[in-house]
Amino acid sequence: MSEKTIGQEMLDKLSYKRRNIYEEATPEKIKAIYDYSEGYKKFLDDAKTEREATEAAIALVKAKGFSEYKLGDKISVGDKKYLNHHGKSLIVFKVGEKDIEREGIKILAAHIDSPRLDLKQVPMYEDSGMGFLKTHYYGGVKKYQWTAIPLALHGVMVKADGEVVNVCIGEDDSDPVFYINDLLPHLGAKQAQETLGNAISGETLNILIGGLPYDDKEVSDKIKLTALSILNEKYGVTEEDFISAELSLVPAFKARDIGFDRALIAAYGHDDRVCSYPAITALLDNDDTKETVMVVLADKEEIGSMGVTGMQSAFLVDLMAEISKALGKNEAVVRNNSKCLSADVTACYDPNFADVYEKRNSAMISCGTTMSKYTGARGKSGTSDASAELVGYFRKLFAENGVIWQTAELGKIDMGGGGTVAMYIANQNIETVDLGVPVISMHAPYEVVSKADVYSTYEAFCAFVK
Ligand code: MN
Ligand code: MN
Repeated sequence: MSEKTIGQEMLDKLSYKRRNIYEEATPEKIKAIYDYSEGYKKFLDDAKTEREATEAAIALVKAKGFSEYKLGDKISVGDKKYLNHHGKSLIVFKVGEKDIEREGIKILAAHIDSPRLDLKQVPMYEDSGMGFLKTHYYGGVKKYQWTAIPLALHGVMVKADGEVVNVCIGEDDSDPVFYINDLLPHLGAKQAQETLGNAISGETLNILIGGLPYDDKEVSDKIKLTALSILNEKYGVTEEDFISAELSLVPAFKARDIGFDRALIAAYGHDDRVCSYPAITALLDNDDTKETVMVVLADKEEIGSMGVTGMQSAFLVDLMAEISKALGKNEAVVRNNSKCLSADVTACYDPNFADVYEKRNSAMISCGTTMSKYTGARGKSGTSDASAELVGYFRKLFAENGVIWQTAELGKIDMGGGGTVAMYIANQNIETVDLGVPVISMHAPYEVVSKADVYSTYEAFCAFVK
């Protein structure tokens, strides 16, 4: 090896450089990264909605000895519990030996809802020999991306007598799937003149559900009747039961490796299962008994974190209050001394769309989990903007634990922006900063991440909670 020049040494010492994880990784490390992603892909396929993610996460934590907690139950040091919040959000927590008033609670907060198409309350109709379901999209979708792809129907229907019926059609290889029609290019000249945002309207996102007329000359809406009769036979439901239902169309794709080298993963709903899974596994893989740790998997982030299962709800601070009370601690002091990683994705720099990114401050693929000191838009509006001290705390922690990470903001200043749950948690006087995986094609039906970044996020969470 040739000696470094003085200038080279100085450069290495004084300048900041992103590091590509794959470039530095040993074959053993790459194997660990790829092996970890297998568990993640399974989680993705099991958990396409917040309800399914709640169930899948509960199965993981129960297998490691966590048991159900309901608000008001007794809490003591050493407890490993989970709070299932209306089946749509979840807090997994363990109570450590350290004084939580002095040390605070360590919180990882991710979300388990993803952009999708929800059914309207009176969705079913037929027209021109085809049966359809009306949808109302959920979260920030590019509507044109949801046409002409296989879709699966997931959710629950609550029947007149209160019975809850689980629905899942389109995930098994032998299942039928659903579909949204698009226009053939031959007749698409006028559509092609429309802006991308207008070419497909919300009211054209109608789900194709059938074409077989019910065998009775006398009745009208025969195709709709066929669909209703199949649903009635299979689930015992009627059309009115759609009113008390939460049914969503999600892409019927399974998670798959991308590329000749399998370095990347494509899947529906990386945002934000790609932080949820590392958060849960980081908690489960550490047998530390000193720290009090909470992993929150929240619902409704994609539509503003409202509602009882969203992060603006009191359920997190209520549980913190219960833990504080049980241990004889002052809740306000506990919150004041707690720290939270808002575990959410950010935009990955994409050379195909280079003009919307400011490269020095963008997340580069495979360069590690990404911290966003602030999010927001138009001059940092709508962000909690973490303190330099908090960023410094994590910087030191990650350096001590060999975590390769990077920092980024979401695109060029005037191009747009975004938000996460960070501000809602920070508003409870809990120091919070965003950390998560960079995503290519975020909010598309099939998103892409690097396995190295998923693993780096897991390593960062492990460093935090141990
Ligand atoms: Mn997100
Ligand atoms: Mn999102």
